[in-house]
Amino acid sequence: MEKFIPLLKSPKIFNGETMVLVYHNMDILVVKENRHSRLPDYNLISSYYDLSIMPIALGIMDGVYYSAIHVDNRNDIPVGTEFMKVRHLYKISNENLFYLAGFGHQIADWDRSFRFCGKCGANTVNHPDERAKLCPNCGHVIYPKISPAVICSVTRGDEILLARGSKFSKPVYSVLAGFVEPGETLEETVKREIMEETSITVKNIKYFGNQPWPFSSSMMMAFTADYASGEIKIDNKEIIDAAWYKAANLPLLPTSHSIAHRLIMNFVDK
Ligand SMILES: [Zn+2]
Repeated sequence: MEKFIPLLKSPKIFNGETMVLVYHNMDILVVKENRHSRLPDYNLISSYYDLSIMPIALGIMDGVYYSAIHVDNRNDIPVGTEFMKVRHLYKISNENLFYLAGFGHQIADWDRSFRFCGKCGANTVNHPDERAKLCPNCGHVIYPKISPAVICSVTRGDEILLARGSKFSKPVYSVLAGFVEPGETLEETVKREIMEETSITVKNIKYFGNQPWPFSSSMMMAFTADYASGEIKIDNKEIIDAAWYKAANLPLLPTSHSIAHRLIMNFVDK
């Protein structure tokens, strides 16, 4: 996120605007408007919710201080508001705000998941110096979890390997991805995931870029690779269809703010 200054506490003196992002699980509260929903302003949130229990500090972006709360009851909300999926917020916000709301979701979810120490069961407190939970009883420190994942485009001449995941609600076809397992190098994860999901072997694995993806607290690390050998054979668990596609004949693709889309466009532009 450009121009984002993360904060562990609310600023003591701040003359700018304040926003409180309200989350319920994977959803964020927005004000319903005819054409475009928007994030609710501070007055609406502070008149409805008890903010005396300190909201979680996120940081300052474009002169606005952002904090977050998580509510357990998704039906007890101000008139004119509704919850929408945080990962759909890109439809009504700019890219920076989309990432900030994703970061807020990740931190709010982590905050409520680690109220107790996993080692001794005592109540945790916020670490005074860093984004972490501290157990005052045994000294255990808990940082926000980030799960490394790889995503890789596989090309064969003028074709790209695209697959439809079983969890996709729409018939979207994308490049293959998967989580890194303990002890693996990133290249080993790329080879294993592609082999497990499509029975294809790859070579010439090259780093492409990365994207924090807060909706599963993951860090997507993107690669490109060339086809080496094998015939497509899908696992029918994570992948329900896979095929080679030419640039002129692509299926429905992931949304443009994803690194998967950037990988596919990198193939198209060649
Ligand atoms: Zn403890």
